[in-house]
Amino acid sequence: MRKKLVAGNWKMNTTRQTAVQLARELVAAAGQETAVEVVVCPPFPYLLLVREVLAGSRIALGAQNLHPEPKGAFTGEVSPVMLTDCGCQWVIVGHSERRRDLGESHEFIRRKLVAAVHHGLQVILCIGETKPERDAGQTFQVVRAQLQDSLPALTSDQLQAVVVAYEPVWAIGTGVNATPEQAQEVHAFVRRWLGEQFDAKTAENLRILYGGSVNASNAGALLAQPDVDGVLVGGASLQASEFLAIIRSARR
Ligand code: PEP
Repeated sequence: MRKKLVAGNWKMNTTRQTAVQLARELVAAAGQETAVEVVVCPPFPYLLLVREVLAGSRIALGAQNLHPEPKGAFTGEVSPVMLTDCGCQWVIVGHSERRRDLGESHEFIRRKLVAAVHHGLQVILCIGETKPERDAGQTFQVVRAQLQDSLPALTSDQLQAVVVAYEPVWAIGTGVNATPEQAQEVHAFVRRWLGEQFDAKTAENLRILYGGSVNASNAGALLAQPDVDGVLVGGASLQASEFLAIIRSARR
């Protein structure tokens, strides 16, 4: 039985004050949540502040990015060692905003994935097609290539530290979410691929999240799909009431 996971990607939002306030509200209402696993990913400068607020709660801390090297001359970058040192248990890898806007290659994403797992972090690996790719009927091809370029670098055992987030690029921050049927179709495809590439147990156990304009109104129907094991939430994770309602939908 896969436990549902609800992760909030705060992106480049919040201030010291609002980050702490948001974390406090989540801890007050969902700090002892047991039915759903909850993760929040604040911006780097607020990780330690949010960590203090989360202390003693069941809400886990995640980062939005990492560099694959443990240390060195990589100006402006943050290593997996630093993330674990700051109390992160999770990290997002392969987000489309980084693939598209920062030109992150498949190879770089694979190195990040491997480094994160090597350093004991759990990874949310994002994949998903653009609108032109969907319109051209290339969704499965694109998603397969993104999986193929990253996950085979890990063993089945290491894959226990990974969740895949299907995030169609056309749904991110647009207010247009994939329908539950569209999400289920791709999630089922990802699970079949995992079974073929690894084994039945890995395919059965690995959680596949949906991300892209998830909110309190559409989360329930998405989460009701058999292969939707949770959600990665951007905009709606910045409002405690909205994020808490999404967590509640994942309980059912
Ligand atoms: C995201 O960026 O991971 C995301 C899902 O954003 P939004 O929920 O705002 O579409």
